[in-house]
Amino acid sequence: MVKKISHIGIAVKDLNEAIKFYQKLGLELEEIEEVPSQKVKVAFFPIGEVRIELLEATSEDSPIAKFIEKRGEGVHHLAFQVDDLPEKLSEAEEKEFRLIDKEPRPGAHGADIAFLHPKSTHGTLIEFCQEKE
Ligand code: ZN
Repeated sequence: MVKKISHIGIAVKDLNEAIKFYQKLGLELEEIEEVPSQKVKVAFFPIGEVRIELLEATSEDSPIAKFIEKRGEGVHHLAFQVDDLPEKLSEAEEKEFRLIDKEPRPGAHGADIAFLHPKSTHGTLIEFCQEKE
């Protein structure tokens, strides 16, 4: 079951500059983490029960680099928090959603994540995110 929005992922060119901006807005930086499996460096800002996740590419073939090249900086994905990611994925497959990840993979924060393809979600990249308790 989808419990809530876990985080909102935002693609940025320069993580440090973007961090400064969000700090000026009054948000507090929680942590910076590199996620090699996704070729990104991320910064988290908690805001209420949700986090803002800023993503900077660490390599030219990072999905974030490709996204910025095509569409510029901005909202990249919405992450829904789920209880049981493998179950959620088989359910999504039954419903014939297009999956980018058929199996959970490691994301930031020790969470397991998987993406649905925006072609089957009316244009928004959706991440399922099972946070470690
Ligand atoms: Zn995310």
